[in-house]
Amino acid sequence: MTVPRSLSYAEARERVLGAVRPGPIERVSLAAARGRALRGTLTAPHPLPPFDNASMDGWAARSADLAGATAAAPVTLAVVEVLSAGHVPSRPLGAGEAMRIMTGAMLPQGADAVIPFEDAEGLEAPARVRIGAPVVRGDCVRPAGADLAAGAPVLAVGHELSPHDLALLAALGFAEIPVGARPSVALLSTGDELLEPHEALRPGAIRESNTTQLAALLEECGCAVALRRRLPDDVAAVTAAIRDALALADVVITTGGVSAGDHDPVKLSLDAIGDVELWRVAMRPGKPQAFGTPGGRLFFGLPGNPGSVACVFETLVRPALRRLQGFTVLERPWLDVRAAVPFGSLAGRRDFLRATLSRRDGEWWAAPAGPQVSGYLTPQSRAHALLVVPEEAASLEPGDAARALLLRWPEGTPG
Ligand code: AMP
Ligand code: MG
Repeated sequence: MTVPRSLSYAEARERVLGAVRPGPIERVSLAAARGRALRGTLTAPHPLPPFDNASMDGWAARSADLAGATAAAPVTLAVVEVLSAGHVPSRPLGAGEAMRIMTGAMLPQGADAVIPFEDAEGLEAPARVRIGAPVVRGDCVRPAGADLAAGAPVLAVGHELSPHDLALLAALGFAEIPVGARPSVALLSTGDELLEPHEALRPGAIRESNTTQLAALLEECGCAVALRRRLPDDVAAVTAAIRDALALADVVITTGGVSAGDHDPVKLSLDAIGDVELWRVAMRPGKPQAFGTPGGRLFFGLPGNPGSVACVFETLVRPALRRLQGFTVLERPWLDVRAAVPFGSLAGRRDFLRATLSRRDGEWWAAPAGPQVSGYLTPQSRAHALLVVPEEAASLEPGDAARALLLRWPEGTPG
């Protein structure tokens, strides 16, 4: 039978990431591109803004005409045209002239500044404008290319596209964006004790929560759940289900049945599946695992406890799935924090403790989100972060500096 291999967290991570190359690229509409990894080099096809335009409603003028203007000796300009956004001036602006101009409208040739309506006095019959102060060249003008020059790189390859990036791409006319294709993922849970969330409890049984957690995490990190199955602790059934899943999806994730139990079916199926190693990773939670690349797919055998699933997903699975999509940043953000209370650990093991965060004296302080029992669900639900106690430390003492992987900001965090 498969003998588990002992390895450090760093070794496990290196092996997992070493097995993953960025996968295929697809072109998607702007509407579908949010959160995806940009996979092509984009350069600005034209300047942004494309032409000099007004940033305020006001009067387009020549700064030279207004050099001597004062409240006591205002300059009066003849108003020769009204310019609204989307329309082109019919002629250049001559000396002694102004044009009424709306925000976003193209500046006429010869104009180099806009005086806001509130800073000048419009006069009628004939239309004129009286201005009692000089204007600085370029005032209230957005010059062509000042936002982005033509030919400039737009966004780095591997960048995660935000709603704001999509606005930039829309303005530049990129209607279809090359992004990393969504990996398809099959989720298999194992355990005779497991019920569906809608089922009534019976003695000895619990409701299955791992695939609910994983499906939501996968969706959040750009993957598509192709299959979700609940399996009994039956080696033949689990082996067959893993084989079917490998034929169907890019990534197969199992939960449970991978540790030292008598009937752990994932562990017992590995010889038949091939190219998957059983691991004992020096991390907590999440020690028993299986990982491999059978048939060029990615296979993660996660432990059964929901806290372990969450931890291994964040620390090994998410980085792999993000690399597969071509993201540069593989993890959630790291924060520098301090321990608010003592945290126990073991030297030689990397602990990822479910922690809440609070802000005090300009720093983030981490406290336990509950008992660090990997089978409990509420600490995970309450946690803001996974606090790391590295291998070289046997504990964290109050005030010790540490790093935490941010799962979400505390609610009500002042901005
Ligand atoms: P195992 O590794 O299969 O021994 O599972 C470890 C613990 O996790 C046991 O208490 C299981 O009941 C629990 N567990 C396994 N799979 C799930 C699941 N999908 N949802 C919730 N708990 C689970
Ligand atoms: Mg089990």
